[in-house]
Amino acid sequence: MSEEKKATKAKQRKKASTTSAPAGRPSRAEAEDAVRVLMRWAGDDPAREGLIDTPARVVRAYEEFFAGYQVDPREILSRTFSEVDGYDEMIVLKDIRFESYCEHHMVPIIGRAHVAYLPEHRVVGISKLARLVDAFAKRLQIQEKMTAQIADTLNEILQPKGVGVILEAAHQCMSTRGVHKAGVEMVTSRMLGTFRTDPSTRREFLSIVGNPGAMSVANT
Ligand SMILES: [Zn+2]
Repeated sequence: MSEEKKATKAKQRKKASTTSAPAGRPSRAEAEDAVRVLMRWAGDDPAREGLIDTPARVVRAYEEFFAGYQVDPREILSRTFSEVDGYDEMIVLKDIRFESYCEHHMVPIIGRAHVAYLPEHRVVGISKLARLVDAFAKRLQIQEKMTAQIADTLNEILQPKGVGVILEAAHQCMSTRGVHKAGVEMVTSRMLGTFRTDPSTRREFLSIVGNPGAMSVANT
């Protein structure tokens, strides 16, 4: 790696460790030590050759897994466009793949999000919807909370006529441990405004995402 690249990386690290970190965030060295403790707990020797660099890699991976803590989801939606030429139909971004982490076991939750809204005055760049999903996914989560956070933030910032969010995800804490049930997906949804009050809006959304079964899940 070039010196310049190294400097940039160090800068990024410094930035990551100072941005919206809770007070008393442990140092990188402390985080790596914690990984060594878990490796010993698992029954292995952190000093053996194959594991020497693992703690540093794990901590770097955690920076990716939990990058959402460094992002302000409201900020993502702050740039809106009001020139919509009278467009007043539903806007849907479907099959947004996300990777999140169960807050009970810290293992992956992998799934798809479908995000829709019916604009009132303002629209937002479509990629922002995907970034919004990631901002909440890249944290310790439960699927229900993540669904509500995405819908509520969209509703609060864009103030549209309605918002619909559906998440379908497989939880590795269910497939790789515990009951060991693979191939099971949890579906959660949150409908606000016209998505909640107008059955035809809701039907349209469900038919676009091709998942009418979603409505059998509690709509909270
Ligand atoms: Zn879990």
